[in-house]
Amino acid sequence: MIANRRTINILGTKFHHVTRSEAAAFIVKCLQERKKASVFTPNPEIVMEAYHDTKLQAVLNDSELVVPDGIGVVIASKILGQPLPERVAGYDLVQEVFRQIENKEVSVYFLGAGQGVAELAKEKMLDKYSNLKIVGVHNGFFDHDQDIVERINATDPDFLLVGLGAPKQEYWIKNNRDRLKANVLMGVGGSFDGMSGKVRRAPKLFIKLGLEWFYRLITQPTRAKRMLKLPIFMFKVIVEGKKYL
Ligand code: UDP
Repeated sequence: MIANRRTINILGTKFHHVTRSEAAAFIVKCLQERKKASVFTPNPEIVMEAYHDTKLQAVLNDSELVVPDGIGVVIASKILGQPLPERVAGYDLVQEVFRQIENKEVSVYFLGAGQGVAELAKEKMLDKYSNLKIVGVHNGFFDHDQDIVERINATDPDFLLVGLGAPKQEYWIKNNRDRLKANVLMGVGGSFDGMSGKVRRAPKLFIKLGLEWFYRLITQPTRAKRMLKLPIFMFKVIVEGKKYL
């Protein structure tokens, strides 16, 4: 956990009271000082999943940094009277870190997404951050963790982005943390799809209005079932949220 940082417990999952730039500064500090850290960015769906799965809840709560990738979590924190400063989308947090480490001796590895997506994400990120040291990529569909860990360790990255979707990536990071040489391990969900251009980010206005979830619902209607968890999350926060504070 970030030393001396206040947390708020939302239905059993702890979130740090940090802005995006504070979260980025923490990650960059860990990378430069070679400190081990797991970073997660749960949205209300994942909080609900952790509510029913105490093992997942423990994985999230044992990590060094947890920030809310979902306006629903920020609204919940307001309802509970301990407002989190802002939504910290995993995608934006990673971009902020890339900006800061691009000219430093820090190397990055992309693990996750379908065949060819991480390669494309690498190309696109190098167009944006030409000095970023991306030392390797691998898709997210594999059978043996050990082989992948060895491949990643052979390239000796400092910052490992794991985009296997939640909660798979959370468990993967927890199970492999000790044998991975990388210092900062971050679950990034579908970020490689976004970085590669395969999935478009919502227009800025949607993001500003806290409606990115709505944009994703209309552009990817298959997510509708997952999003049904959002009203249940809000209901639970109102009815029993105070118990967890
Ligand atoms: N994925 C993967 N391996 C798997 C299952 C999923 O690499 O075994 C990838 C998938 O291709 C996608 C990401 O994980 O890139 C999940 O994206 P989604 O937007 O569903 O994740 P979220 O950000 O909502 O957790």
